[in-house]
Amino acid sequence: AKKNPNEPEFMQAVKEVAETVIPFIEKNTKYQNKMLLERMVEPERVIMFRVTWLDDAGNTQVNRGYRIQMNSAIGPYKGGIRFHPSVNLSILKFLAFEQTFKNSLTTLPMGGGKGGSDFDPKGKSDNEIMKFCQSFMIELAKHIGADTDVPAGDIGVGGREVGYMFGQYKRLRNEFTGVLTGKGISFGGSLIRPEATGYGNVYFAQSMLKTKGESFSGKIVTVSGSGNVAQFACEKATELGGKVVTLSDSSGYIYDADGIDAERLAHVMFIKNEQRARISEYVKKYPNAKFVEGKRPWEVKCDIALPCATQNELNESEAKALVANGCICVSEGANMPSTPEAIEVFQHAKILFAPGKASNAGGVATSGLEMSQNSLRLSWTSEEVDERLKRIMLDIHASCVKFGSDQSGYVDYVKGANIAGFVKVADAMLAQGVV
Ligand code: NDP
Repeated sequence: AKKNPNEPEFMQAVKEVAETVIPFIEKNTKYQNKMLLERMVEPERVIMFRVTWLDDAGNTQVNRGYRIQMNSAIGPYKGGIRFHPSVNLSILKFLAFEQTFKNSLTTLPMGGGKGGSDFDPKGKSDNEIMKFCQSFMIELAKHIGADTDVPAGDIGVGGREVGYMFGQYKRLRNEFTGVLTGKGISFGGSLIRPEATGYGNVYFAQSMLKTKGESFSGKIVTVSGSGNVAQFACEKATELGGKVVTLSDSSGYIYDADGIDAERLAHVMFIKNEQRARISEYVKKYPNAKFVEGKRPWEVKCDIALPCATQNELNESEAKALVANGCICVSEGANMPSTPEAIEVFQHAKILFAPGKASNAGGVATSGLEMSQNSLRLSWTSEEVDERLKRIMLDIHASCVKFGSDQSGYVDYVKGANIAGFVKVADAMLAQGVV
């Protein structure tokens, strides 16, 4: 904490990993005395830069850009770019740290990284978004590359932004390479990449439920967020027979007792992706649904909860409400959405709980598949990519069970994910010497 003042989110992420990994290191002599954890919490490189751009009124705007190159022991740095006014060093370091473990869990050769800017895309014109992305890439291009560091999307960065950044990189370098993932299908993107994080989260929850002889069929599901991850978690949960009754954004949540089925989800996608409007618009078309302003959906009775918005969006009292209402499974689509106190509530109640670094790894895994396709210069069908995604989520679940089970058969997925993620990175770091 002394070394990293004012970085609460980074401290929170490190503490959660340390609590499970240190006891493991103590029992495994091979990992002792090499300062492994100390090295892992120190980013290999942090880049911070000025991003200046001209808004539509001709005014000069200034933002701060970042790239955290956390760990390259098992592959090129890999992790998303976030555009949100809350972005700062602490949030990006927490995300890059988690990413290192997550990428290790996917079984693919990817190191950990994360980047972004405090730029707020809300209310900006398409022209302003493009200008910002181009200016951001002018500096970022110096530090990334298909074999060095491969960024992707995250909050506030979807297909449109990745496209503008890719175009600028290509212009600067005169190179058509897989330097970013989440690209459009016509220029090297992978089928199923937009769906992958949400689908993968539901596949992971499905595996957890299976251990209890349960499934999504007939279950009430609450989802938070209404962006990329939330939309496709809603789609897959519905396809598997669940009834999704909530979605949200930073202004509040919608509750639809009839279920947000395929037709209603298409309208959500229109509101969020085309109109770029608020989720509250939903009730104009479906007046039986209600909009609850300024609240999060965890007060709604459900069997399965999928937090898919942002960090620390589910606190202790909300976790207690979920458990009291009979929720049996919480699978994180977002990164670190549950506070440490909330996780304690879930684990104490012994309900199924998956941390994002395991359950949302399907996104980056499919980005890894996009990198493979780019290197091979070919494209796989959606069935093929979806099959690989399912396989990877099954493997991650199996790793969590392997490292997280106790004698009673209870699986601590937090412990399992942290240790499984740690082992691969630690082995690679040991083999590569003191670097
Ligand atoms: P989007 O930008 O598409 O959507 C984010 C959603 O979360 C929006 O509904 C947004 O509402 C809401 N949100 C953001 N910040 C807040 C906040 N402070 N309070 C309440 N709601 C908020 O992002 P993604 O769906 O891509 O990302 C969601 C989460 O999933 C993040 O934690 C991300 O790191 C994680 N993730 C994403 C992956 C991906 O492939 N995209 C991969 C793995 C993890 P509003 O519009 O009001 O801001």
